[in-house]
Amino acid sequence: MDVVEVLENSIKAYKLTTKYHGNFTDLKRALFLGWYCNLTKPCKFCYMSSQKSKIKNPKSARRRIESILAEAVLMKRIGWKLEFISGGYGYTVEELNDILEMVSYVQKSKQYLNVGIVGFENLNLNVIEGVVGAVETVNDELHDYLCPQKPIDKTKEMLLKAKEYNLKTGITIILGMGEKEEDIEKLLNLIEELDLNRITFYSLNPQKETIFEGKPSIATLEYMNWVSSVRLNFPKMEIITGTWVDKLTNIGPLIMSGSNTITKFPLFSIFGKKEGITVENEIKSTGRELLGTFSDIEALEGKKDLRDLKRSPYVDEDIEISDKNIERLRFLESRINNKIDSYVRKTLKNLK
Ligand code: SF4
Repeated sequence: MDVVEVLENSIKAYKLTTKYHGNFTDLKRALFLGWYCNLTKPCKFCYMSSQKSKIKNPKSARRRIESILAEAVLMKRIGWKLEFISGGYGYTVEELNDILEMVSYVQKSKQYLNVGIVGFENLNLNVIEGVVGAVETVNDELHDYLCPQKPIDKTKEMLLKAKEYNLKTGITIILGMGEKEEDIEKLLNLIEELDLNRITFYSLNPQKETIFEGKPSIATLEYMNWVSSVRLNFPKMEIITGTWVDKLTNIGPLIMSGSNTITKFPLFSIFGKKEGITVENEIKSTGRELLGTFSDIEALEGKKDLRDLKRSPYVDEDIEISDKNIERLRFLESRINNKIDSYVRKTLKNLK
């Protein structure tokens, strides 16, 4: 890696991002449905692979719907779009469609889905903005070893199909698992082949009881090399970059190298605390304006609407869902509200 070239490319990438996307950075978060994946050979880096043998009843490892919906409501209050709705393999299309409809309805916003290989025939396409394929790594050997039951070809097929339905498409890539610098070229080719709208990079967060336990993360300059290469080749693409609480200071450099959006944080445990404020400061230090908040308690409590202050990426959309799910939402209303209150109380308690 030529470090001077990476820094020079990053400056160009930053300017390109400003030109095509404006002077904003936002925060996103994946909405997780549960902790169980029913692949018999789960991916070797994944937290769910370490939990699989401990979970006797897979359904008990699913989140309650009121908890999912409460989080969706709070995300809108604080101006964080959902990166996607995500879960391990094992949900039926009907289950996914119900969740998708209800989340979209409470947020008045279409959603991205990242739930493995899905067929689109039985999904309410009017509430889907896009589909994400979990590619994880473009290094073929590494991919076969780490994700033995998730062949890239199937993911590619699904993403091309999604385009036929006029859906946006994206992929996820995890860095720090053994990929090589030469793989950047393969990634650029894949983006072009699939005509992707979006990419999410993650820096591997090594999980206990996986082969990566205790391993170090990718260096920030290497991470910048991947991000800036994508930005220089695809100026209009949405680039989302993941960090973690132990690497918050990579946020500024990732924005400088072309990132639009920062993701992958715990939320309620650090909202309003020094870590949340560090995220905001990292973003602002790059000269970007922050959409959403990681510290505004009044926004979290619903006493202030960030959209009135032009600090939210949300614009209400027309969301039409089945009568069955409207009825279900009515039935769930008080439970969702209780869960919202409990998340807010937990956040305030963490601040003391
Ligand atoms: S498919 Fe997704 S949830 Fe399942 S093991 Fe792989 S990364 Fe984890």
